[in-house]
Amino acid sequence: MIKINRIGTDANRTGDAQKTGMNAQDMELPFIYDLSLDALRRWLADQGEPAYRADQLYDWLYVKRADDFSAMTNLPKALRERLAQSFRFVALEEIDRLTSADGTVKFLFRLHDGHAIETVLMKHDYGNSVCVTTQVGCRIGCTFCASTLGGLKRNLTAGEITAQVVKCQKMLDAIGDRVDSIVVMGIGEPFENYDNLMTFLRTVTHEKGLNIGARHITVSTSGIVPNIYRFADEKTQINLAISIHAPNDALRSRLMPVNRRYPFRDVMDALKYYWEKTRRRVTFEYALIGGVNDRPEHAEELADVLLSSGIRCHVNLIPVNYVPERNYVRTPREDVFRFQRILLGKGINATIRREQGADIAAACGQLRARHEALLKP
Ligand code: SAH
Repeated sequence: MIKINRIGTDANRTGDAQKTGMNAQDMELPFIYDLSLDALRRWLADQGEPAYRADQLYDWLYVKRADDFSAMTNLPKALRERLAQSFRFVALEEIDRLTSADGTVKFLFRLHDGHAIETVLMKHDYGNSVCVTTQVGCRIGCTFCASTLGGLKRNLTAGEITAQVVKCQKMLDAIGDRVDSIVVMGIGEPFENYDNLMTFLRTVTHEKGLNIGARHITVSTSGIVPNIYRFADEKTQINLAISIHAPNDALRSRLMPVNRRYPFRDVMDALKYYWEKTRRRVTFEYALIGGVNDRPEHAEELADVLLSSGIRCHVNLIPVNYVPERNYVRTPREDVFRFQRILLGKGINATIRREQGADIAAACGQLRARHEALLKP
């Protein structure tokens, strides 16, 4: 691990606005990134501004990526002042940044109300990918996941999700590079924060803003069935991944309590609907846990279920990341390959997730969990 920056941890304390450049009054204001382009248009129209001002403002926010309203020199001074009185600009303060030997960068951000979230920037041969967080904590309770340990504190706003991408993009701006793809696979269950998720997705894909291609974005869900149907009806080209982790109801319920609310078969039915509606390939995420869900019979059963569903799919095998609070062990390497071979043998496309940032606790919730533990008296 190469640690390149650690900003004083005393800036972490809740309410310590001075050190983060936010004053108490600013913190009460709505965050400017929370507004969609349409909402900005409406606000500006209410101010009596001509329609083209919204495009100018949007360009400053997401293309020029200004840090302050005062930088927006083609907007009249009076408007800039009104904006500054009406909206907050700062939403995320970087409180930690870890860089892995493989180039993965993990940010720990502090929100205006003191909570900490994580964002990961990964470098692949196909470009830069950002993994965003959608909630402070999580209430889904998957038994292998660190994000859920402290429960759910709150949803992120749309702007707080967008700001994570902008922060990464600004880091890349310095080297003339760009964010090519986004995975909504950080802390939280995106389909439990559905409306903010959709506003975020519209903002980052907007051609007048960050303009990240919908087909380069993947949303991962633990299986919130009603919102899988809703998402299928959205008419976007955004990809869907499902955290399946087991080939049947009984085992899935053991690993993921959410399966008792939305059982395996209902999840598969919703995914069938998604596939029929969108004709987009579904990714099935499967964390391999030693001796629990990694036996050859599990691979056989998974292959059969997927084949009979008729869904065009891809299985992403993830050797489980060790979480100190849980006692799951990793599947031995050769058993991971065996699992993959069985799927491939049955005609199911399956890859093994390349590990990135293992040296910096880049897996879901690990850094935040450590941070919270440090803050405990
Ligand atoms: N709540 C969403 C988004 C989280 S995505 C979801 O459940 O899909 C993060 C992915 O990493 C999910 O597939 C999740 O199940 C998986 N994951 C969580 N903890 C893990 C661990 N310790 N090892 C491997 N994968 C894990």
